[in-house]
Amino acid sequence: MIETSAEYGEAHAPVLQGLWEYVRMGQEDVLRSPYLPASFAFLTHVLLCAPFFVLDALGSVCQRVRSWRISAGSGPPPSLRRWSECFWKVLYKYMTVVFPATALYNTLLSPKLPADAPTCWQLCMEVVACLLLFDMLFFIWHYTMHRVSWLYRSIHQMHHQHHTPFALAAQDSSSAELLSLLLLALSSAWMVGCHPLSEALFHLINTWLAVEDHCGYNLPWALHRLLPCLGGAPHHHAHHRVQTVNYAPFFTHWDHLFGTYRVLPEPIAREHVILLIL
Ligand SMILES: [Zn+2]
Ligand SMILES: [Zn+2]
Repeated sequence: MIETSAEYGEAHAPVLQGLWEYVRMGQEDVLRSPYLPASFAFLTHVLLCAPFFVLDALGSVCQRVRSWRISAGSGPPPSLRRWSECFWKVLYKYMTVVFPATALYNTLLSPKLPADAPTCWQLCMEVVACLLLFDMLFFIWHYTMHRVSWLYRSIHQMHHQHHTPFALAAQDSSSAELLSLLLLALSSAWMVGCHPLSEALFHLINTWLAVEDHCGYNLPWALHRLLPCLGGAPHHHAHHRVQTVNYAPFFTHWDHLFGTYRVLPEPIAREHVILLIL
C-alpha cells in the first residue's frame, strides 16, 4: 500500500514531485518487487558499459582512442569474445545467487513508498552521504579481503584475474563478492534512510563510477579530472596492477589516511614509442 503521510515534508521541486508521482502511481508493483535492486544493478551496469564497448571496438581502428588506454602498450583492447564471455558469466552469477539473495533481503526490509518526493537539497545530501558511506564500507571490506588470505582466495581473487581490466570486468567477480558489494550498497542507502529516488540515483552513480574505475581509459573528460577527490580509472587500475595500494573504490581520502594511496607512472603507449623512434 502507498504511504500517504508526508514523511519527507514539503516537496520544493515540482519536477522531482512530478517524476516521483509518475513512477509511484504507475509502477508500484515494480517498485515493490524484491527483484528490483538486483535487476536495476545488472541492467544499469550493462547499459553503462555500452560506451566503453564502443570505445574498445573503435580502439582497433583509431589511434586516438588507443592513446587514451591506460595500458596502451600492453596489447589490443578486449575482444568481442572476451566481452561476451564476461557477460554470460556475470548473468549466470546474478541468476543463481544475487537475484535470490537480494530478493530475500528486500522482502525482509519491505521498501517504503512515501507520498512526497525529496527536495533537491535532500536528494543531493542523501546521494553524497550514501557515496561516502559506501566508499568507507568498501574500503574496509576490500582492505580485509587483501589482508586475510583465505578471504582473498575464496572471494576476491577471481576479480583480480584481470590484470588490465575493462568496463564489464567491474562485475566479473565471485558470486560472494557480487552479492556482498550489492548488499553493502543497499545497506548504505538503508543506513542513510534514503528516499527511493535518492537511492536510485545513488545506485546509478555508484554503478557508473565502478564502470569508469574498470574501463581502462584515462579519458580527457573523465569525472576524476573534474573532481580531484575521485581516483577514477588510473587509481583503480593501479590496484589491479599492484594489489597492495588504492583500496577505496571512488574517493582517495581513505587511501591517503592509511598510507595506501599510490599513483603509478603511466606507461608510454606503443604508438608513441614508434613515433619517437621515427
Ligand atoms: Zn576492480
Ligand atoms: Zn582488490
